[in-house]
Amino acid sequence: MAIILDGARVAKEIKQQIRKEVADMHAAYYLARPPHLVTILVGNNPASQIYVRNKARDCEECGFTNETVELPEDTTRGKLLNLIVSLNKNQGVDGILCQLPLPEGLDEWAILNAIDPGKDVDCFHPENVGRLTAGRPAFKPCTPAGVMRLLAEYSIPIAGKNCVVIGRSNIVGKPMAQLLTAADGTVTICHSRTENLAAFTRNADILVSAVGRPGLVTADMVKDGAVVVDVAMNRGLDGKLCGDVDFDTVQEKASYITPVPGGVGPMTRAMLMENLFKAAMR
Ligand code: NAP
Repeated sequence: MAIILDGARVAKEIKQQIRKEVADMHAAYYLARPPHLVTILVGNNPASQIYVRNKARDCEECGFTNETVELPEDTTRGKLLNLIVSLNKNQGVDGILCQLPLPEGLDEWAILNAIDPGKDVDCFHPENVGRLTAGRPAFKPCTPAGVMRLLAEYSIPIAGKNCVVIGRSNIVGKPMAQLLTAADGTVTICHSRTENLAAFTRNADILVSAVGRPGLVTADMVKDGAVVVDVAMNRGLDGKLCGDVDFDTVQEKASYITPVPGGVGPMTRAMLMENLFKAAMR
């Protein structure tokens, strides 16, 4: 039976540690004020509203201040860009986060490009993506960084291991593969066009699934003793949150496994807080 990679516990500890460091830095006059995050929420996407509320709660737990700018669904590109320009200039703002997805018609690429790379705590700006590729990250993308931290917390070795990442999105799959490569893993990326997915996953010592399809990863696709990380967050037919991995059967074969919820999700949020603290210290 696999050991559960308890992201909720680890994330809580990370946030407590950040809170202490913020207080120490403030007491030592390295920080004149608490780190400040501005989140921009455009439109009424219910999932986005929950994510934004959670981030605000995380900020409070870490001793940070935060503000959410809510804009209507029909916000123009010009108005959004003007807001970002003013936040870029505002020295009281350390991190700017534009909650995705944006309503149809708003060009995400243009909007993310406009954020000052030094305040880009999501690590989506091309400069930060490039720095990551070059092995000189300013910030690390929150979800893959959360996975790496979780593996480290459980002393799971990566060097020389066969790592298979299912999914190649800019937000999760690609940077996940980069971080595993940087940690000396031998990395394979699979995606929707991969032929015979199971042939790859069965070879994985560390399997990371980031697709968004409940039941995609079944026990027969997993090697005995593999470490299985489920990034996905789906709603199952019963309405409950679930990942890509058939948890009940796969946990019988894996050595370590993340639950959904309580695995990668809280780690992603904790890494955002680390990035914000880093942005403020810079
Ligand atoms: P995405 O942009 O939709 O990417 C999904 C990836 O899965 C694509 O690369 C796609 O391949 C691949 N894929 C689709 N069907 C497949 C199949 N049958 N076999 C193999 N690969 C397949 O999604 P995302 O933004 O990366 O997010 C992935 C999942 O993670 C979602 O469930 C999302 O909710 C979750 N997520 C969780 C967190 C967290 O904090 N826990 C953070 C971000 C995202 P192609 O490239 O060929 O289309």
